[in-house]
Amino acid sequence: MTTAVPGNGKVLVIGSITCDLTSFSDRLPQRGETVLGNAFTMVLGGKGANQALAAARAGSHVSLVGCVGDDAFSELVLGTLAEEKIDTQHVLKTEGPTGIAHIRVDASAENDIVMIPLANSRLSPGHIRRSLGSIAHPAGVALIQLEIPHESALEAARQCKARGITVILDPAPAPAEALDADFWPHVDIVTPNETEARLITGIAVTDRESAIAAGRWFTDRGVQRAVVTLAAAGAVVVERTSADSTAVTMQEPFSVTAVDTTAAGDAFAGVLGSALAEGLDWDQSLRRAMAGGALAVTVAGASPSLPQRHAIDIFLQRQAVTR
Ligand code: ADP
Repeated sequence: MTTAVPGNGKVLVIGSITCDLTSFSDRLPQRGETVLGNAFTMVLGGKGANQALAAARAGSHVSLVGCVGDDAFSELVLGTLAEEKIDTQHVLKTEGPTGIAHIRVDASAENDIVMIPLANSRLSPGHIRRSLGSIAHPAGVALIQLEIPHESALEAARQCKARGITVILDPAPAPAEALDADFWPHVDIVTPNETEARLITGIAVTDRESAIAAGRWFTDRGVQRAVVTLAAAGAVVVERTSADSTAVTMQEPFSVTAVDTTAAGDAFAGVLGSALAEGLDWDQSLRRAMAGGALAVTVAGASPSLPQRHAIDIFLQRQAVTR
C-alpha cells in the first residue's frame, strides 16, 4: 500500500454530485399554490462537488470519487467539473438519473431544498475501495460528507485513515439517526455547524460553553480536532492534546456583509483541506478556511460563491492591514 505524502497539494473528495435546479420567485408558494417565478438556473451542486470546487479554486489538485447517472444532467455536471480541472476518473457513471437538488429561493434569499440522491445512493464501499486502491499517489487530505450512504462515508474514512491521509469529515446534512460509533477514530478533523453538532451529540449549541462541550463529545470519541462552526460568530476548536486532555480556542469571525449564506460550510471545508494539503500549519489553514467561509457569504448562490485563491489572499492581506 502506498502512503500519503503530507503537503503534496493533493485533495481527495469522496461525496455527492448533483445538478441543482433552482427557481427564483418573489415569494415561496403556499402548500398547493402555484406562483409565477422570475428566473431559473441549472448548475453543478452537491456537497462533494462543492467542496471539490472550493479546494480546486483554493489551488489544490483535486480528485473526486462519486457517482452520476447517464442522463443529460450527468453531462452538465461532468462538464463543469472538467472546466474546474477536477479529476473525475473515479466518478462512476451508472444507469439512471443523476442526483438532483430542487431549490426554491424567494426575494429575501429564504430557500427550501429537496435533495434527491438518485445516483449518489449507488456510491458503494466497493467503488471507494477500488478507487483508493488504484490511486498511485494518494492525496494528503480527504474531504468526506454525508450526502452519500453512511456505510460508504465510513468506508471512505477507514480507507483514507489506513493510508495516512488526513480525514476531514463535514457531518452534513445533519444525520437523522445516530452515526456509527466506528466513524470517530477514523476522523482527524470534524467540522459540524451548530445544528449538526446538536443532532449528533445531543448537546444544544447555544453559546461558547455548549460549543466546547459539543466539540469535546467528538474528541472523547477519537477525533483529533473538532471545529464547531458558528456562522457569523466564527468557530470553536477543541483539540485532543493527549488521551485525557484537550485544548480549546475560540476563533473570532471576519467581518463581512452577508448576502447569501449558502455553501459557507463547503467553502470552509474545501479551503481547510486545500491549505492543509499544501503543508500550511493548523493556524494558517484555519485562518484561510474562515476567510473562505466569510467570502462565500458575500456572493449569491452555492458554487458561484466559492472563492478563488487570489480572492482569499487579497482578503487576508487587507485584514492584516486593517487589524
Ligand atoms: P454551514 O454553512 O455548514 O452552516 P457556517 O455557516 O457555520 O457553516 O459557516 C462556516 C464558517 O464560515 C464559519 O465558521 C465562519 O468562519 C464563516 N462564516 C459563515 N458565515 C459568516 C458570516 N456571516 N460572517 C463571517 N464569517 C462567516
